[in-house]
Amino acid sequence: MMVYKCGEKPGIGRYVCISCGEDLHLNDATDVLPPCAKCHRCDFRRG
Ligand SMILES: [Zn+2]
Repeated sequence: MMVYKCGEKPGIGRYVCISCGEDLHLNDATDVLPPCAKCHRCDFRRG
């Protein structure tokens, strides 16, 4: 499984927090992946 960390710019798409399942969307290729809004962790997978 590919893991994306906050601070990366993984590209447009939906990302799901590995810890709690909260999802977020990046709408631009230059958007930086933020910490999870719910649990503040930094590990995501593509949703
Ligand atoms: Zn989370």
